[in-house]
Amino acid sequence: MRIGIIGAGQLGQMLGFAARELGAECRFLDPSNSPPASVCGEVIQRPFDDAAALAELARSCDVITYEFENVPVDALQQVEGQIPVYPPIDALRHAQDRLYEKRLFEKLGIPLPGYRSVDAPDDLAAAAESLGLPILVKTRRLGYDGKGQFVVRTPRDIDAAWKALGSQPLIAEQWVAFDYEVSAIGVRNGGGEFRTYALSRNRHEDGILRTSRSPIDAPALTATADGYLRTLMGHLDYVGVLALELFVVGDQLLANEFAPRVHNSGHWTIEGAVTSQFENHLRAVMNLPLGSTENVGHAGMINLIGTIPDSARQFTDGHLHDYGKTPRPGRKLGHITVVAGSAASRDALVEKIDKTVT
Ligand code: AMP
Repeated sequence: MRIGIIGAGQLGQMLGFAARELGAECRFLDPSNSPPASVCGEVIQRPFDDAAALAELARSCDVITYEFENVPVDALQQVEGQIPVYPPIDALRHAQDRLYEKRLFEKLGIPLPGYRSVDAPDDLAAAAESLGLPILVKTRRLGYDGKGQFVVRTPRDIDAAWKALGSQPLIAEQWVAFDYEVSAIGVRNGGGEFRTYALSRNRHEDGILRTSRSPIDAPALTATADGYLRTLMGHLDYVGVLALELFVVGDQLLANEFAPRVHNSGHWTIEGAVTSQFENHLRAVMNLPLGSTENVGHAGMINLIGTIPDSARQFTDGHLHDYGKTPRPGRKLGHITVVAGSAASRDALVEKIDKTVT
């Protein structure tokens, strides 16, 4: 079987490695020169919305999937009739626009922070008034890793926020004083088979994921999050892996956003679960039975951002994944996963490694 993957970054690379073990071949579409996934399959080096390149990918593959959520929906629709495209384009459409995403959460009864749609400076002032300061202003589209965001702490910040972001549609969100952040990762195949991974507890720095740990000792939150995933993925008739990011506030979960793809907070599943998120995503899109999502230990993941120091290569009690990318500040270059016998020993390892590689 040949799988066409739009995007050939590190997620594409890890999908490519998993595909090889399943005996499947991958072909990628990505405009960059020598992207990380080029080590595991041919890359058609064209823009993501290049109609001829997409048609060529569709012609030469059995199914198309994608590794990032900013794939142009219109371009994908052109090939949808010729070849299965998973996850469904409707999931992509909602994930690309924070307003549609939030309306979907509301419609499905998934709790979320208060928000307002913002199209003019007056809307921003009204949002600050009704939600209460501070508010977080975000671009509706194309934001990632905390980019395209502005915190309005006092009414005086409103003008600056509008100047920084106001040339496009925005949303304003209530500031959530969360206890911590988690992601809930689920997988569903075309037959409706559905499984979830244990929740990951995530720590971000400057809007970028720094560490994930799984499982966490929170059975009630886990059951609630699994229910949200089941509702969301069932509603979208979803095929593939989906990651739902949530804020934990006491015993409540508030949805922040979802990604219709494999996710950084699930990288620990390569060594820390019976079946990785990458293998299960492929199993779903290939319409195979899903593998077990059980943990094989207490897993932790530390992202390597901006640089991979020599010390990262010296650890023998963790698994280094070097994506082969050119170093650049703020860029995710690799990660280290640890799997331990207890949460305490996992946490000690994560903290030791995190300090050393920072
Ligand atoms: P996002 O791009 O929406 O995932 O936001 C990036 C990070 O900013 C999140 O992982 C949180 O750490 C933080 N953040 C986002 N929205 C809020 C909010 N409404 N209140 C507090 N922190 C937030």
